[in-house]
Amino acid sequence: MKTGRRQFLSLGTSLVACGTSSISRAAEGAPAVPGTDLPLIVSTWPFGRPANEAALAAILAGGSLLDGVEQGIHVPELDAGNKSVGLGGLPNDAGVVQLDACIMSGPGHRAGSVAALEGIVHPISAARRVMEKTPHVMLVGEGARMFALEQGLASRPNDTAAAYEAWRKKRAEKAAVKPATEKNHDTIALLILGADGNICGGCSTSGWGGKLPGRVGDSPIIGSGLYVDNEVGAAGATGLGENVMRYCGSFLVVELMRQGLHPQEACLEVIRRIAKKDPKGMGISVSFVALDKQGRYGAAGSAAGFQYAVTNRKTSTVLKAPGVGNRDIGPVGGNQSPK
Ligand code: ASP
Repeated sequence: MKTGRRQFLSLGTSLVACGTSSISRAAEGAPAVPGTDLPLIVSTWPFGRPANEAALAAILAGGSLLDGVEQGIHVPELDAGNKSVGLGGLPNDAGVVQLDACIMSGPGHRAGSVAALEGIVHPISAARRVMEKTPHVMLVGEGARMFALEQGLASRPNDTAAAYEAWRKKRAEKAAVKPATEKNHDTIALLILGADGNICGGCSTSGWGGKLPGRVGDSPIIGSGLYVDNEVGAAGATGLGENVMRYCGSFLVVELMRQGLHPQEACLEVIRRIAKKDPKGMGISVSFVALDKQGRYGAAGSAAGFQYAVTNRKTSTVLKAPGVGNRDIGPVGGNQSPK
């Protein structure tokens, strides 16, 4: 335990030195991370970098890969400035924050998930407990909240009856859902390849700001927002969930890697496939991150400008993914400031 902490502290300098100024375009097919540099941690958006570093610290301190996923994702979940993950995220059309999360363990092919969860500080921990403490994969809404409370997870007051009543009245006058833009949704999807060759991942989001109450996106859906296959690799999604979940996006990325595609090429190919079928074409607003069993990683967006974070024992950085379309979603993409 102590050795792990010392190792991380000595790594601290190089992590700090790799600021967001190190943003660079990912090489076509980033080289594999050598086994000695594992774990490899890949996550969505610049706000994934401090999450990756927390995940690495947890693992170097002797934690499991699942501890890494959980503690890494705790970082954006706790960040009040993050408008798309955790209770600081954008609320639904009734003014209530509803959270989605899932976790997947390569060993044993286990999964847990929560959706439309209100008032719980760490939905990723609720998802992990669903996986570890119940015979189920997914709990939603009030049932998920009661389960999380019963498990002793931290909560915030959740007296939302008045908010929903006001929304019901407003809706009777005018039914409209706030259109999704690149500014009102994002997700942390975080993937880890361990030094032992095992793979785990997790996903957490407040989803589409202004969504209909009860709307669930891709993020807590195994195979859509996240998928892990311990023999092959893992993939996670961010972007408009409606355009990911109809295509089982993350599952498809992993299946293409199984057929031999490099993680980055697999992400690009899934976006091309979705865009070909989808009436919105390249306007689908989706991005993927992926890593494989060989320690290779990559990402791609339907638009240029999607950034993702990559961390291992030697380095921690934010890279710019190639976009399939020409539209640029800007340096940050979502509604947060780069950290
Ligand atoms: N995928 C998330 C959702 O649709 C949002 C995002 O990642 O931008 O809820």
